[in-house]
Amino acid sequence: MGKKCIVALDQGTTSTRCILFDEAGAPVATHQQEHAQICPRPGWVEHDANEIWFCAQNVIREAMVTAPSVTPAAIGITNQRETVVVWDRKTGEPVCNAIVRQCMRTQDFCAEWQKTKGWEQTPTGNGKVKDKTGLLISNYFSGTKLRWILENVEGARDKAHRGDLLFGTIDTWLLWNLTGGVRGGIHVTDVTNASRTLLMNIKTLTWDEEMLDFLGIPVSMLPRIEPSSCVYGTTAKNAAFEAGIPISGILGDQQAALFGQACFEPGMLKNTYGTGLFMLLNTGDVCASSQNGLLTTPAYSLKRGSCVYALEGSVAMGGATVQWLRDNLRVIDTAEDSEYFANKAGDSGGVYFVPAFSGLFAPYWDMSARGTIVGLTRYVRKEHLVCAALESICYQTRDVLEAMQKDSNIHVSAMKVDGGAVGNDTLMRMQADIAGCDVVRPLFRETTALGAAYAAGLAVGFWDSLDMLGALWKKDRAFSPTITPEERETKYRRWQKAIEKSRGWTEGEKEGRGSEQK
Ligand code: ADP
Repeated sequence: MGKKCIVALDQGTTSTRCILFDEAGAPVATHQQEHAQICPRPGWVEHDANEIWFCAQNVIREAMVTAPSVTPAAIGITNQRETVVVWDRKTGEPVCNAIVRQCMRTQDFCAEWQKTKGWEQTPTGNGKVKDKTGLLISNYFSGTKLRWILENVEGARDKAHRGDLLFGTIDTWLLWNLTGGVRGGIHVTDVTNASRTLLMNIKTLTWDEEMLDFLGIPVSMLPRIEPSSCVYGTTAKNAAFEAGIPISGILGDQQAALFGQACFEPGMLKNTYGTGLFMLLNTGDVCASSQNGLLTTPAYSLKRGSCVYALEGSVAMGGATVQWLRDNLRVIDTAEDSEYFANKAGDSGGVYFVPAFSGLFAPYWDMSARGTIVGLTRYVRKEHLVCAALESICYQTRDVLEAMQKDSNIHVSAMKVDGGAVGNDTLMRMQADIAGCDVVRPLFRETTALGAAYAAGLAVGFWDSLDMLGALWKKDRAFSPTITPEERETKYRRWQKAIEKSRGWTEGEKEGRGSEQK
């Protein structure tokens, strides 16, 4: 028997990855595989759940082959949140493709729902759904996708009522298969994944009868809700590994990143810089209700019936703004070039760029806003524009951060960062200046997989405590603010002025779906 490791299975929207971690929390092997994006109609997105299960086995097997000297002590799962799988309990076959988070097929239903008596919500989402679930009525979340399947797949509703169908987010689907599938698979989800369905009450951490009734979902098809770190079951022998390995950690991807960043105390926050931006703030045992359009969500649960809460805010155009400069304006060749040009410019030359391409989300919630570049003079060159684009990522982050501090009454002194764009030191320096807090980048940036490993390792005694996990987390570099508070506020006021200019652009026009966004 060789050294022990934790297997982290990171099932994302475009690919599935397995990383093996040793006791020091360092990666010893990794393997990744993409899966197909199925788009049967404009705006519809599906995945083949069997393909995902196949990829999961494959990446685990391949990672183990590259590290033959280690043996798995436990498996942790992290996954794309909200994506819905419904399958037959007896055959193990999904009744249709998985419906993916961003799939728009239930948008009309959601629009009707928002107008239904008793369920109305304000533009920032306050209303009964927010009170119960911490979420907004939106096609992103699983509940309306599950309802769609029951309504539209032939025979599904009858079979569901007979108890023959099972529902799961991707974690549940993988866990059920890993633990034996039709031969006794375990049907469980964790609190963080359950919280993205619109079906769980975030205060009681149980399925909410009124939500189930409204959406017409039989409780018999729902998985049992468990903590994020506990032994759910053990593997059945299959193509990838031996029987008997405990599966002991499950977290939705953003919550896993928070956990992998060792944000275990109230006030600790992580921001992920990918295509979009995803910020989560640990609010401890306070289930803070947002007045600024943020979501309230369980961050993780270590004990049945209780959890640590977080506020969550996301921004659609993060690194995607840089992609737009590259692919649409073609002023840079690669995303990395943005750093070179921003440095060459030195500053944005008074330019402010609001990338509200599909409206403004938290904390403004104005779908009539559109992208705006203001402050142009003859002096301005493309370098300034690139700089303004990077600054827009930082200002949007500050907007969400301000909302979080207001909603939670917590002062944030440091922001832990991860995601593809954090390699850009200039962006990180700008972020510290604009947010007015330290920006701390970890040495190991695959924080999502690391979070799943931490949760799994904690449950089996591979690691003893949160303190021990906190000690494993290693800093690469911290960026501190270098401008004065006065400079910061002057710049931020300008940004807010630019935001005002972007608002109301499509107001009064019959659109609502963004007619120019084709
Ligand atoms: P996702 O997981 O959303 O696909 P990643 O975490 O892989 O995203 O990050 C990719 C995003 O980061 C892209 O939108 C890209 O434009 C941006 N990005 C990558 N490198 C840099 C960089 N050096 N500077 C600025 N943006 C970058």
